[in-house]
Amino acid sequence: MPSAEVGPPPDEVGPPPDEGSARCSAKGCTADAVWALRWNNPKLHTPERLKVWAACDDHRRHLSDFLAARGFLRDVVPLRDAAGSRS
Ligand SMILES: [Zn+2]
Repeated sequence: MPSAEVGPPPDEVGPPPDEGSARCSAKGCTADAVWALRWNNPKLHTPERLKVWAACDDHRRHLSDFLAARGFLRDVVPLRDAAGSRS
């Protein structure tokens, strides 16, 4: 089983956190997501705009490392909290 690969951060792709059962954003993973990785690419996004990647327990660290390595990661919160923060 190959180690999980993660492609470049999709710009407009990413499961919306308010759709109930979000899927993990990791490539090839079909697990239900339980974490929301909130990130921002300052080259593409205004500072107040947060993108959200959903991640399952297994991929939370992998995906957050990927974003953190690029300086994009803002925070990681339980998906429920991220969804609940939207009106
Ligand atoms: Zn996953």
